[in-house]
Amino acid sequence: MEEKFKSLRKLIETKTNFAITTHINPDGDAIGSSLALYHFLKNIGKQVIVAGPNDAPENLRFLPEFEVYQPFTEYSDNLTRALKNADVVFALDFNTLSRTGEAMKAVLADVTASKVLIDHHLQPDQEFNLAFSDSTSCSTCELLFDVLDGAFSHINWLTKDIAECLYTGIVTDSGSFRFDTVKPETHRKVARLLDTGFNHTAVHEYLYDSNSLERFKLMTIMLSNLRVILDGVVSVSYITECDLQATGCRREDVEGFSNMGLSLKGVVISAFMREEDGKIRISFRSKGDHDVNLYARKYFNGGGHKNAAGGTFYGSVAEALQLFEQTVHEAVLTR
Ligand code: 5GP
Ligand code: MN
Repeated sequence: MEEKFKSLRKLIETKTNFAITTHINPDGDAIGSSLALYHFLKNIGKQVIVAGPNDAPENLRFLPEFEVYQPFTEYSDNLTRALKNADVVFALDFNTLSRTGEAMKAVLADVTASKVLIDHHLQPDQEFNLAFSDSTSCSTCELLFDVLDGAFSHINWLTKDIAECLYTGIVTDSGSFRFDTVKPETHRKVARLLDTGFNHTAVHEYLYDSNSLERFKLMTIMLSNLRVILDGVVSVSYITECDLQATGCRREDVEGFSNMGLSLKGVVISAFMREEDGKIRISFRSKGDHDVNLYARKYFNGGGHKNAAGGTFYGSVAEALQLFEQTVHEAVLTR
């Protein structure tokens, strides 16, 4: 690890133009880690751009200098040029280039820059020049803390803005500190973040007290579609494109729905499906050793983590539900 920290420090100290990239439908960890690294590189005098495949959710716009985040859907010409000119491209919070969507992936596959991965998903691609990959870390933000602390301990790298960004990613990816990826060290690092003096209560309010009445209406549809199978250990629900239109909701309004099925007593695996551009996107959540990463890989062209994974189904909601109901028993461990 020490050698890798040295390589990273040298790379950062000797180069000028940096690009930070993250995954499609960016979440708090994706945007939090990207902006934290942006602030760090800016603070030491570097040129930095932050690029993601598409727009970020409304409730992350409070983050310091959020406006530097550029979605490829809007700024493809500018970003293509910037990515081609970059000396170093950081890949944050994703393990395979395909997570950056078709258009941005095509540009990234072609860049001449050194590629540095900082990520906590399993099975990372091997194409990076330098890779910090740790699937035991609760979030890319926690891992980025370790990386910056390891490589730049000689300077005072942790500012209030960086702390607020890292805290956001840690909170959102750890289910507000509840998942088993949270270790005593995680809290010790968070204590150092809080020492910088940002307003953590406000962060939680921005993140979670942001429901609209439209979203509540969509939630009632999702809850009325919810079914429990396999003697109550598996739950599944869905939302159609018509439901979005009928309630006046946007795609990102389903954020958080995937966790709700798992809060039913006795449920150990839950799936939440939604129609998107003629495909079905599915989020899987599980508890304990029930592994939805392997399951999503096998049946739904996806992956992720043991307890939180996603995938895509090419067909109708009814067909996706059918495949799920026929196969999900494979992911349920029998006691
Ligand atoms: P979500 O359900 O919130 O979209 O994703 C849960 C986790 O699974 C995230 O960590 C995400 O990175 C991962 N994930 C979601 N969709 C996919 C996918 O299609 N392929 C892979 N490899 N991982 C995914
Ligand atoms: Mn993450």
